Amino acid sequence: MPKRVETVVLHDSSTPVIGDVQKGGSVVVTSLDTLLNQARANALWPLTFGLACCAIEMMSTVASRFDLSRFGSEAFRATPRQADVMIIAGRLSKKMAPVLRQIYDQMPEPKWVISMGACASSGGVYNNYAIVQGADQVVPVDVYVPGCPPSPDALIYAVLKLQDKIKRNTARNLSDLRLVEGLTGPRTLEEVEA
Ligand code: SF4
Repeated sequence: MPKRVETVVLHDSSTPVIGDVQKGGSVVVTSLDTLLNQARANALWPLTFGLACCAIEMMSTVASRFDLSRFGSEAFRATPRQADVMIIAGRLSKKMAPVLRQIYDQMPEPKWVISMGACASSGGVYNNYAIVQGADQVVPVDVYVPGCPPSPDALIYAVLKLQDKIKRNTARNLSDLRLVEGLTGPRTLEEVEA
């Protein structure tokens, strides 16, 4: 059952009698979007995409001590076709940026991105010619996780934040598809360096 509903209609004499209502049950009315987003939010499948030391913390989230499966996100996928949340864990080099963008493009809609750690979010301590100064220059980011490295708890908190956004319909979804398609990210090393 969805935890968040937009409208609840209980049976009274003015509403038509339907199925279980006649036997004393109740009816929940909600939008299809809300229902779908509840399902999506509670079964986010992350893409395996570790770039540097932050990835070790990311791996820890699925270990027994933290257990990301409590929130339905333990199924890290090795192919973008089966993932709907990209966790950018570590510094993003300019050489890797077009690859990241291509993998992002290969993920089916709807999809979301978590930028994990100072390096992925802003370049961190690597303010130099080789590192992209923020992954949001390459792909749209939904949630940023601060820290160097962020703890596994912090990443789990980011997943919960993303779940909230999806449930509240404030995360990007299919209705924003045109916006996402219109996003122009660098696809080649030359475009990243430009
Ligand atoms: S934020 Fe810290 S732990 Fe994460 S990739 Fe950068 S240097 Fe490594």
